[in-house]
Amino acid sequence: MDHFGYRNGEMYAEEVPLREIADAVGTPFYCYSSATLERHYQVFTEAFAKQGLDLLLCYAVKANTNQAVIGTLAARGSGADVVSEGELRRALKAGVPAEKIVYSGVAKTAREMAFALESGIYQFNVESVPELHQLSQVASEMGQEAAIAFRINPDVDAKTHAKISTGKSENKFGVPWVHARDIYAEAARLPGIRVVGLDVHIGSQLTQLEPFREAFERVAGLIEQLRADGHEISRLDLGGGLGIPYDPTDPEPPSPDAYAAMVKEVVGHLGCRIIIEPGRLLVGNAGILVSRVIYVKEGEERKFLIIDAAMNDLVRPSMYDAYHEIVPVLETDEMPEPCDVVGPVCETGDTFARARPIPPLGSGDLLAIRSAGAYGAVMSSTYNTRLLVPEVLVKDGKFAVIRPRQSYEQLIGLDQLPDWLAQ
Ligand SMILES: *Cc1c(COP(=O)(O)O)cnc(C)c1O
Repeated sequence: MDHFGYRNGEMYAEEVPLREIADAVGTPFYCYSSATLERHYQVFTEAFAKQGLDLLLCYAVKANTNQAVIGTLAARGSGADVVSEGELRRALKAGVPAEKIVYSGVAKTAREMAFALESGIYQFNVESVPELHQLSQVASEMGQEAAIAFRINPDVDAKTHAKISTGKSENKFGVPWVHARDIYAEAARLPGIRVVGLDVHIGSQLTQLEPFREAFERVAGLIEQLRADGHEISRLDLGGGLGIPYDPTDPEPPSPDAYAAMVKEVVGHLGCRIIIEPGRLLVGNAGILVSRVIYVKEGEERKFLIIDAAMNDLVRPSMYDAYHEIVPVLETDEMPEPCDVVGPVCETGDTFARARPIPPLGSGDLLAIRSAGAYGAVMSSTYNTRLLVPEVLVKDGKFAVIRPRQSYEQLIGLDQLPDWLAQ
């Protein structure tokens, strides 16, 4: 559920007509709804509270790193899951307390580890033995102890798109679950390391509970073994990955309530503090990308709606074959006609939808690409020397630009000519 809908014949974000924002900032732009972000956070945390589970929700900021988005969730009590020093700096700056930040990722460098230790983060999710040794060395040199969980690769099929599956043995993520006992034993012997938990994250946009259940059962058995081996495992990080509805004709993904009930059933008896790292679920449907039609082109075989947003602004359709609902901003009851919705970039992959039934639109008309709040703006680029687009946040009948449109000066001005060309 989100707060983008038609009123008086046009689409609003909460109490604000999109037309008004488009007039103020131009197109394309991303628009996020505070009420939707807050609601998603509340639904998720309440689902766990109902099960009596001790929960730390760490928003996976990589889904949308705008500080205003992180800050909206942090104000509700959210922690953060970060995967780079840059994300850690952003989360801290946006007001997430260090003691609610977990640090994931396969390639943390010594410098990044030192910065995270200095900041006093809650936990490192360690993904390999070489990383463990590096962290032990950095922490010991600083006279500190790093609280760690190992990210376990449980070798289960998440049944999602191959590019966002992370829990099979052939994926680069985590330590193989079959070697976990040896690796924990090694960690227990190292200086600067305090073993506190276990972590698992099997992929993104999961639309069924079964792969989660399979992974969590495996992990629960492992925790019992590790405890029998003498390790103190008090935190269980279950990662993110719960999917959202993109296509309204698809079956609904499992609800946060069903997810939390399954967590309670499978791992509740362990008495661990549960950490979850949802990204997409919190922000995906809290954002849209608003664009304007440039031309309508009648091709030989089909009709093309050429819009001012492109794959550099929202790469998910070309990168993951992702479906995004596309709707006109002005409500209409005209019959939809199949068309290809394409952007200006010189790539055939710059296509948002193929043969999609959309009501007739003309040059200058506004449209909204829905469910674009996660892995949208953060994955954008300036390919074709296109400017990064503005991000706008709506709250209580107001809107604010939370990142302005880049200027040509900022973009082109970054190039530097070597002295032999600078004459
Ligand atoms: C990407 C990621 C997440 C968030 O995944 P969503 O599908 O957006 O919920 C959580 N944890 C880790 C380690 C990740 O890499």
